[in-house]
Amino acid sequence: MKYPKAVIDTKALKHNIEIIRHLAPNSKICAIVKANAYGHGLIDVARSLLKHVEGVGVARIAEAERLRDAGFNNEIILLEGFLGAAELLKLNELKLTTAVHCYEQVELIEKYASSLNNLKVWLKFNTGMNRLGLDADETKEIKNRLERLDCVKEVNLMTHFANADDRTSNYTEEQIAKFNELNQDMFLNRSISASSGILFFPQTRAEWIRPGVIMYGISPTYEPVVNFGFIPVMNFETILSNVFKLKAGCRIANSNQVFSQDMYIGVIALGTSDGYPSQAPEGTPFLVNGRKVSLVGKVNVDTIYVNLGPELKDKMGDKVIVFGKSLPVEEVAKHINVITYELTTKLTTQTKHEYIIN
Ligand SMILES: *Cc1c(COP(=O)(O)O)cnc(C)c1O
Repeated sequence: MKYPKAVIDTKALKHNIEIIRHLAPNSKICAIVKANAYGHGLIDVARSLLKHVEGVGVARIAEAERLRDAGFNNEIILLEGFLGAAELLKLNELKLTTAVHCYEQVELIEKYASSLNNLKVWLKFNTGMNRLGLDADETKEIKNRLERLDCVKEVNLMTHFANADDRTSNYTEEQIAKFNELNQDMFLNRSISASSGILFFPQTRAEWIRPGVIMYGISPTYEPVVNFGFIPVMNFETILSNVFKLKAGCRIANSNQVFSQDMYIGVIALGTSDGYPSQAPEGTPFLVNGRKVSLVGKVNVDTIYVNLGPELKDKMGDKVIVFGKSLPVEEVAKHINVITYELTTKLTTQTKHEYIIN
């Protein structure tokens, strides 16, 4: 047996898609599988989504290429577009849909128009994210330029919110208003919202939606999304590699805690080499035999210590839940002070992925 392991419940994935479908029954779903499907495994996740979504979104052309090589025939949207002529020709060959967010990309499409066919474009309008995107006048001009080309089959309009998880600010409403104003006389198919927008701004459930984290049953905030009915897709687990008694008055390396009585300490087979954050502080929770126990000392390369309490209840080889259905990733992430999906996304290749397929 190889530990740690990420057990991926593809039934939960499909369940989460159904919840999203129920929230946005009139929208096509572009399921975001960038970053190795947020650490869940690009190919296996895409394969289990195949019949349940209209398309998938990736950040880089290499990810799209892996999907096509694996026989994935659905629509693939390149969320950040292409970088240079070689990628443009490659995406045409791979039949990818591409975001267009700058003039350089438009000029390349015009230059290589005779080598391209049936190109589908999502124009990226910057409504305030200020990362990538065109302003209103540029978007209009580029739409006209692209629609003049025979090789362009479809032009859609997309935007991305800056902080749709913050419901105390009206910034998102301003972004929505800007978007609607521009599209008033363009009548393009729209793709406006990612996870937070889908959950908190129903008016943004447009022709296309782009769910990422929520599809994996992970909240875009620290508030668990189980309230919406989502189920965590990844159960990340490992085992106790040792249990020993720490004498009263002694302490674990790098810990300030001195125990007044004998204490059982568990050594967990997990560490920074598995992608677990080194900054996880003392008190970070784990589940051992159904009990919540907490980290003592520091996260090492391959080991973590936890306080198992004054009574001997556990033994080497017992299962440890790092996060998952019984220990929300949101709770763990909040403790460590990292964003929720960082815990799944940063898993290293040392972690074995096991898929429950139904
Ligand atoms: C990452 C990304 C998403 C998905 O975001 P979530 O918050 O994970 O739902 C959607 N659209 C674009 C353009 C992205 O880059």
